[in-house]
Amino acid sequence: LVELRDVDKHFGALHVLRSVDLTVGEGEVVVVIGPSGSGKSTLCRTINRLETIDSGRITLDGRELPAEGKELAKLRADVGMVFQSFNLFAHKTVRDNVTLGPVKARGKSAAEARKKADELLERVGVANQADKYPAQLSGGQQQRVAIARALAMEPKVMLFDEPTSALDPEMINEVLDVMISLAKSGMTMIVVTHEMGFARRAADRVVFMADGQILEDAEPEQFFTAPRHERSKDFLSKIL
Ligand code: ATP
Ligand code: MG
Repeated sequence: LVELRDVDKHFGALHVLRSVDLTVGEGEVVVVIGPSGSGKSTLCRTINRLETIDSGRITLDGRELPAEGKELAKLRADVGMVFQSFNLFAHKTVRDNVTLGPVKARGKSAAEARKKADELLERVGVANQADKYPAQLSGGQQQRVAIARALAMEPKVMLFDEPTSALDPEMINEVLDVMISLAKSGMTMIVVTHEMGFARRAADRVVFMADGQILEDAEPEQFFTAPRHERSKDFLSKIL
């Protein structure tokens, strides 16, 4: 479903992605880990063209990513993204946060969007917060709204960039539980996270990045019990 072939990217002199090859099949859940600055966020951002690439190919559903215009807007709607900071619209209610995209970008009627929003808010466990504003919610609740908002666009793939790292510890699991149930429902997901419990429970593959390169791409069991690369071993010894 998502394919990166020989992708290179520089920020000035800094080589942030080096010949990256990654294939994520339909319904697959891929966890991306690696040290700070290794290029994980940049990798995610190239997939919806929040970042350009210098060379290589990125395809979604077999089609190369459009550079601009209507096609790009369509692509962005197909790729849901959840960030570390929740990025909700502060001056909109929770429900309006979730209905806005489908009405504007998917051409849904207000009634249709609202019905879908209420279903999704129920699914992520915040149905009773629909009329509140983001600032009135806990971090964990806000992040679950952000997930509902992304899902409302009916994306083909969901990208998560450290979705729990800004949360207080007691709220991490409520977000991970939503992500695990999403994974079980068959959603294609690329998840940057250091929550190894999530990787063990939900990931089909773990990808380890360092210095802009994918050094290891393995099943979680294999990766955690017998990492092949020195850098992965070293990294695991620090976070486990
Ligand atoms: P972290 O775990 O800290 O989130 P990361 O693996 O997500 O790190 P990236 O954010 O992808 O790493 O950054 C990769 C490298 O590119 C880093 O050295 C970073 O400083 C640099 N970088 C990221 N964005 C930019 C930018 N817009 N301009 C210049 N350099 C950047
Ligand atoms: Mg990052």
